[in-house]
Amino acid sequence: MQSRKRTVFDYCRKWGKRLALAGILFHGATQLNYWRNDITNSVNPSPVRSEFYEEYGIPIRGWKADIEENPEDIKDIAETVCREKQTRDFKLKCIRVEPGNYLKKDILEQVVTVVTNNDSVGWCYLDRLGLKRKAGEGTVSHEIKHQKTYEVIREHPEFLEKWDKLARDENGKSLYIGDFATYCEKIRIIGKLFRDDNIIDYEKLGFVSDYARSNIYEDIAETCERAEINPHDLESFLFGIKPNPHNDKIPRNEKIVAKIKLAEEYSMIPSGFMEFHELYTTYQDAYASLENGVETKKAETYLRNSTDFLNKHPNSVYECELRRKRGELLESRTLFEACSKSHELDSIHKMKIRSVQSTLSELEDMQKEETRLFRAQKADFRNYLGAAISEYERSLSSGFKDRFNYMTVLSDLKRCYEMLGDEKTAKLYDDAINEYGNRYNNSDVKLASKGINDYLEGRGISFDIHEQRKLESISGGKK
Ligand SMILES: [Zn+2]
Repeated sequence: MQSRKRTVFDYCRKWGKRLALAGILFHGATQLNYWRNDITNSVNPSPVRSEFYEEYGIPIRGWKADIEENPEDIKDIAETVCREKQTRDFKLKCIRVEPGNYLKKDILEQVVTVVTNNDSVGWCYLDRLGLKRKAGEGTVSHEIKHQKTYEVIREHPEFLEKWDKLARDENGKSLYIGDFATYCEKIRIIGKLFRDDNIIDYEKLGFVSDYARSNIYEDIAETCERAEINPHDLESFLFGIKPNPHNDKIPRNEKIVAKIKLAEEYSMIPSGFMEFHELYTTYQDAYASLENGVETKKAETYLRNSTDFLNKHPNSVYECELRRKRGELLESRTLFEACSKSHELDSIHKMKIRSVQSTLSELEDMQKEETRLFRAQKADFRNYLGAAISEYERSLSSGFKDRFNYMTVLSDLKRCYEMLGDEKTAKLYDDAINEYGNRYNNSDVKLASKGINDYLEGRGISFDIHEQRKLESISGGKK
């Protein structure tokens, strides 16, 4: 009996050793492959990796299939990094796009895949940031917020203490679930034991999501990420909701407001965040009043307040958007004046703005007719339109050039020059729209910081002149 037991034991030990050795060799081979890929790409980086490093000072690591052959991700990463650096610079040793394939991961990622539920889309530790494919701008921003938190508390440890005070109940007890439960929840099989399926009203406790209750670092990253990428989701917390037929009045969420203000104080989110969102809520009204030919007061208030904002918060991430909107108000104001002098122009303009069901070609025809009638006006509206053009062109030279606003401004400029009868410059902006599209499709990682201003300057657009023109023409658009 004794010897049979021994034989079984020896047999298991022998096979256990063989399996362990096979496992080590197998994983050793995957690691050799992984390092070889990193070394090859460091020694001989592709244009997209070189340009990213040149622009943002951060190496991009990962496999060709996840970077060069996956342009959507690298474009999202570049725009978010540019945006985050505009408000507060940060340092990273690298950003890695993680492969989905187990055999292409590094040993740590392999352990994480085996041990955890693997539901995280990003991570940040030791000055390194990792992202899964299709992580999206929100995740990139979230992980950068972690890095920024580590950097802020090195210089200002009181930031953490102040935040912690905002996450306690009336008896001073912490409202966080805690690290132990948070991390255990991620572990395979036993994770279920730590999962609390009772949905707590996290908003009332001052959190922007349930995940933000995990611990202080997740709370900071979640709150700041929302403010940066999806700020409009926070509007009801920040400003409350006025009573309406569907809802009673909801007051603003003082706990979330206090966290946002603290984040702003330490440059974790753009400065002037709250002021910008107040401005945001007044724009639509100001624009509609002009478009419908009602009055100009609201637009003038917006122009005045946005001038104050831009003076108070230079190099804001919101500059590109604000200047586009200022340009649109000035352009609409021009039409407002012109329509008041021409009944025919007024009719076609109103038809255009109210034609929600028109096709694209019908809209184009109306735009052409509006342009023709505008040009036929005797009054000189060039100064008003010049002010709009100046704002649009200043929008193009903002520090952070987000895709939507920058592209929209190119179209706005094309339209303005058409209205002025300057076909040559209108054509230039038409070509610029195509140029932007080509660079975007070719994964130009500098679009958010440089746009295509080199292309425009190469064709005679000077951004310096507009600096001067703007001083002459803003202040309610009146000359
Ligand atoms: Zn996180």
